[in-house]
Amino acid sequence: MNQLGLGEFHSFNAAGRQFLYLVPSAAIFALDEPARALLDALVSRPRNRSDLLTDVAPLFPDTDLDATLRELEQVHAVRLIAESQVKTPPPNIIPLTPFPLSTAVLNVTNQCNLSCTYCYEYSEDKIVDTTNGSQPKFMSEETARQSVDLLLRESGNNPVVHVSFFGGETLMNYPVLRQVVPYACEQAAQIGKRVEFNLTTNATLLTTEMIEFLALHDISVTVSIDGPKEMQNRFRVFHDGGGTYDVLLPRVKELLKRHTSRPIGARVTLTSEVSDVVAIYRHLTEEIGFQEVGFAPVTTSVGRDYELGQSGFDQMVAQFKALADEFLKSALIGHHHGFSNVSETLEEIHKGLSKAYPCGAGLGLVGVATGGDIGLCHRFAGSDEHRLGSVTDGIDREVQSAFLDRHHIENKTDCHTCWARPLCSGGCYHEAHTRYGSSEHANLHYCEWIREWTDICLHVYGELAERNPEFLNRFN
Ligand code: SF4
Ligand code: SF4
Repeated sequence: MNQLGLGEFHSFNAAGRQFLYLVPSAAIFALDEPARALLDALVSRPRNRSDLLTDVAPLFPDTDLDATLRELEQVHAVRLIAESQVKTPPPNIIPLTPFPLSTAVLNVTNQCNLSCTYCYEYSEDKIVDTTNGSQPKFMSEETARQSVDLLLRESGNNPVVHVSFFGGETLMNYPVLRQVVPYACEQAAQIGKRVEFNLTTNATLLTTEMIEFLALHDISVTVSIDGPKEMQNRFRVFHDGGGTYDVLLPRVKELLKRHTSRPIGARVTLTSEVSDVVAIYRHLTEEIGFQEVGFAPVTTSVGRDYELGQSGFDQMVAQFKALADEFLKSALIGHHHGFSNVSETLEEIHKGLSKAYPCGAGLGLVGVATGGDIGLCHRFAGSDEHRLGSVTDGIDREVQSAFLDRHHIENKTDCHTCWARPLCSGGCYHEAHTRYGSSEHANLHYCEWIREWTDICLHVYGELAERNPEFLNRFN
């Protein structure tokens, strides 16, 4: 007779209850005592349906255990052992119709006025291949317009498209930004669409005129900054080695004062020497005034001295946890907290995302190199090996399909038994390329921290779901 066993899930506790994060549906299921007892019984050993019900029934004489068990089966928390042993065939993984674009990241320049030691664009970890050297230093206005045309042309039924400006240092090509933003708005309006813009900058070149332009066009801004003066100046330096903190500070303060229609975010790169997450967060929010702060460990090949390393990762997780607890406290009373790593993960959990791909790169998002070549994302723009076409010739759908085929989570065997795969899906292609020499590789060096971090966010989610569910409505 068929035996029942446990399905694939991660169990976590919040608000005094036990929850299941169900894989791969990415749904969250709150357990009551009878459901918990049924699962506990199956942990000790698989058994057939009637034995299971008979064994647990004395504990809950007044409960319809059969109905509870059926519910657990419906959500695949419990399943037939025979079923669980049969490997599910890979789904039809490639969208056969062209996938609409939602975002184009324009690398408006590959030049930068800084020489940040760890930068993927300029450090020893830069992806170098045949075309990199042949890209112009600055994107022309014509290429920027063609990028917008391509985005709108390929956007299908998306009513809103996103243009991101990236570099090098984006503001080194401010003249093109000034031209292409109104152009994009006009072109989109003509076909009944809308464009949202965002821009990433090191802020050292910001002027009052630029700030007014950003505010006027409602452009979201992310400032790359690593924290207080001594941390910022450790790696984020000018070409002559001089620190950047004193130059950017008045500019950022003016930006925060004048551009108030959108939250201005800070993005911090964590390294072996810049890893005090809580102190950095305090400085950036309380002393400078950023509304959102996001952190990411540096992308690097093995052995660089700024690499975070295991103890660095451990410290990072502990500090992420402390800030996540703070986030929860604020959220329980309906207040904003600017630790954006939590809000981004909560949104993905709330939407029940089960990702076949780690990010939109090469799917709904593309990067455009200064010369107009289309790459997977801004980090691959200009890399011949990861080229998907050009703004003049369009996206090569065959190349795109082959890329999506190779990079689907079903092809990452290392990830097949990982409970965090609905949210991680193997991690950043660029990081994998830097670390393992192939964008197809799973980022196995950070599995432990991804799982710990996901567990922390699930806990926050469960607490909010039980104690202040209205807070989660903002992620609808
Ligand atoms: S890279 Fe690691 S954490 Fe991410 S899905 Fe794969 S096994 Fe899980
Ligand atoms: S490949 Fe990496 S850098 Fe590029 S969009 Fe995806 S997560 Fe971001």
